[in-house]
Amino acid sequence: MKTYIIFTFLLFTLMTCKNKTATTMPLETSSTKTKAKAIIDLSHAYSDKTIYWVTAKEFKLDTVFKGQTDKGFYYAANNFSTAEHGGTHIDAPIHFAKNAQTVDEIPLEKLIGPAIKIDITSKCSTNPDYLVSIDDFKDWENAHNTTIPSGSIVLLETGFSKYYPDKVKYLGTDERGDHAVKLLHFPGLSPEAAKWLVEHRNINSIGIDTPSIDYGQSEYFQSHVALLEQNIPAFENLTNLDKLPSNGFEIIALPMKIEGGSGAPLRIVAIVYDK
Ligand SMILES: [Zn+2]
Repeated sequence: MKTYIIFTFLLFTLMTCKNKTATTMPLETSSTKTKAKAIIDLSHAYSDKTIYWVTAKEFKLDTVFKGQTDKGFYYAANNFSTAEHGGTHIDAPIHFAKNAQTVDEIPLEKLIGPAIKIDITSKCSTNPDYLVSIDDFKDWENAHNTTIPSGSIVLLETGFSKYYPDKVKYLGTDERGDHAVKLLHFPGLSPEAAKWLVEHRNINSIGIDTPSIDYGQSEYFQSHVALLEQNIPAFENLTNLDKLPSNGFEIIALPMKIEGGSGAPLRIVAIVYDK
């Protein structure tokens, strides 16, 4: 009976949340010892405003049918098309490493589990070309009196999500095409810090609230190469990282399972627990 009441409550909550653009949803679970506090949506929605790499094909939604059928029931269906790398998405290891895992081959253990957040918003607020450094990770470790736990999902909060989907502020340009690549300005992870993470820590995956794990001015994408060569996937264009604590939460990051894909649209959520 108790289960039934909880289920009914959840169902009611889901129904009442249906038309809101809520990013968080309260969750009560009796199956875990710890009470879940909230589920936070870290994905942007896909639409004609979705931000893509300046050379990538953008999201397109075509209505197949929408309305009342002649048989009396309502029916809606669409077709969509998109590049793999746009909006909130995952980079599979094969994106920058020959013969590495494709998106359908990434073990779920890399995508679901405990996470930490590195907050570099203040440094990025004055420098759109900021590179997250080894010291930024060491500062987190000193503040928490621990090394980055083995098996962590590491999220980098630059604060740039607040500019999304304003292309000039978020990407540095609203131009598109090959010539626009050199106009990109947004923070990313320095190659030195990427190599340090790979060589000295044991992380499962990494994410950032900018279009790329390498910064906008990158030419050789060395952070991508360092991470993806080691089968560490990268989540890009995340949002709502400001709603997360610096540790003690979990991530569920489930990309579309494209066979042979180098990346894919990603639905990613955080579960934040009461302490
Ligand atoms: Zn990508």
